[in-house]
Amino acid sequence: MSNEYPIKAEPPTMKLLLIDDDIVDRMNAKRNLQQSGQHIAVTEASTAEDGLALALQGQFDLILLDYQLPTMNGLEFLITLRAGSNCNTPVVILSHSNDDALAIRCIEKGAQDFINKSEVTASRLIRSIMHASERHKIEQELRESREQLRYLAEVDALTGLANRYIFEQALRHALPLSARQNTGLALVILDLDKFKDVNDTLGHAVGDELLKEVAQRIKSQVRDGDILCRLGGDEFAILIHSLEDIELVRRFSQRVIQVLQKPICIEGHVISVSASMGIASFPDCASDPIQLMKCADVALYRAKDEGRNQAHLYSKALHEKIQCRIELENDLRGALSRDEFILYYQPQISMDNDQVTGVEALIRWIHPTRGLIAPDNFIPIAEDLGLINNIGAWVLETSCKQFQHWRNTFNAVDLNLSISVNLSALQLSQDELVDNIKKIMEKYDIPNQCLELELTESAVTKNIEVSTALLQELAKSGITLAMDDFGTGYSSLLQLKNYPFQVLKIDKTFIQSISDSEDGALYLKAINAFAKILGLEVVAEGVETKQQLDLCRKLQFDRIQGYYFSRPIPPNDFEKKYLVAPIVPAP
Ligand code: C2E
Ligand code: MG
Ligand code: MG
Repeated sequence: MSNEYPIKAEPPTMKLLLIDDDIVDRMNAKRNLQQSGQHIAVTEASTAEDGLALALQGQFDLILLDYQLPTMNGLEFLITLRAGSNCNTPVVILSHSNDDALAIRCIEKGAQDFINKSEVTASRLIRSIMHASERHKIEQELRESREQLRYLAEVDALTGLANRYIFEQALRHALPLSARQNTGLALVILDLDKFKDVNDTLGHAVGDELLKEVAQRIKSQVRDGDILCRLGGDEFAILIHSLEDIELVRRFSQRVIQVLQKPICIEGHVISVSASMGIASFPDCASDPIQLMKCADVALYRAKDEGRNQAHLYSKALHEKIQCRIELENDLRGALSRDEFILYYQPQISMDNDQVTGVEALIRWIHPTRGLIAPDNFIPIAEDLGLINNIGAWVLETSCKQFQHWRNTFNAVDLNLSISVNLSALQLSQDELVDNIKKIMEKYDIPNQCLELELTESAVTKNIEVSTALLQELAKSGITLAMDDFGTGYSSLLQLKNYPFQVLKIDKTFIQSISDSEDGALYLKAINAFAKILGLEVVAEGVETKQQLDLCRKLQFDRIQGYYFSRPIPPNDFEKKYLVAPIVPAP
């Protein structure tokens, strides 16, 4: 059996403060309140000062105020009560006056009602009190929703920072002020690196938490008075006022990079973030807010392009460079369909018999207005834009077609010539790469052992698991794999034994910078010896001088490639020079 009984809820008691110097009026008011039968607890004050002190404690639901107090009238009381305090208790004024204008002024100053004492009856008073309290509640709600609207309009709900609207306003005001006061101003635009990956892999909830933490970390580095806002997504902006020296902004950006370095732990995921920043200063970079934003954007683009996790300061030269890159990007998109690529060919000479035994296909872009563009200037862009797979497929097809023509026309089979083609790291993640290569070899009837694919070490190590399996498959089919540009980056001979490479191409910078010093020669000798232990054939790239050639010969490298013999040349020239009369080229 349950022992619970319904409990009748008592209506809540209203706490009322009655301020009147006239004891008779106070008694009248109290009597009227009692007669109303409402639950009202009355506290009395006979002076304005006592009344104010009690009212400011903020614990009353309503104040009943006599307009004419000896030291203060009702208006003065209201002004004092509302000014500088959070006290917004509703006030009903009792007065002997019938003055409508005065009543309106009292309402304007924050009273909820104004009643003539001679008209006060129990029901009139209680109605006024109830209406005043209701009206006050509605006003309060309105005020709150207005506040909320303002908050929503100005504040970024996720991070609590100022939003883009406020930032743009601040920027608009800051520029003329800075000009008038003759002080500098800097704008920093910050964008998280690869934030999309976090959203995509860990979900938006984690992404949101990450943004909140990042906002706090950046905020910890922003001076009082400077403005930090979230422009949207993972983009933030910082407005730095009264800037004496741009060096301060550089240091600020370094500090931000540092505070972001510490991994962030969210829902059990340990996330590493970094950010890129673009900096533009006023008046050096631009004279209006829109231009200043653009300049900071250009600098940000540069910071991203240079490998992220860094800050860049805008400059005119930078602008031109970026402009050029943007144009190249646009032009590159249509270059393949407009047939603007060509392949040049560079011979490789065997040290065994001084014959041309290999040829490397090297792409060039014949730009309609800029002329011939070298691959280093557009391959990285093609990789960024996701165009490299199509370009790579074109290179493979074109070079194999050319090679078939040479084999058929010049009996290159007897020459024992092979063709080398460069592959980009990104091509390695193509599922269909091996099949495509095999198809092309079949199409042009080229034996697999005549193809050498050149890959850089970083291309292979970027995605070790995929790469190893893919390389094994290619090697199994008899295709030769060459590690290109060895000696740049973090080359590791030990790593080499983990992959099925058969050829090691020592980079030209290595050959050129160290071949004249004794130490250099020793290094080359050691690399060569180690490569031989691993069973690798060694190709020296970038041989330009007789001295370098002699050194390579002395070290018994297997093949030589370089300007000493020939630059990369168009196919017709290659034909004439090396295939019609296949003899070793005179230097
Ligand atoms: P790489 O594969 O290491 O090619 C050798 C580069 O060294 C070529 O530059 C060649 O012209 C240059 N070179 C050869 N001998 C000498 C020399 O004696 N002295 C000097 N200073 N340079 C020499 P190129 O043709 O500008 O190609 C640059 C890079 O662009 C290539 O380096 C390769 O990584 C990439 N690349 C070229 N064609 C392709 C392609 O079809 N696909 C891909 N993914 N990358 C390519
Ligand atoms: Mg190469
Ligand atoms: Mg190379």
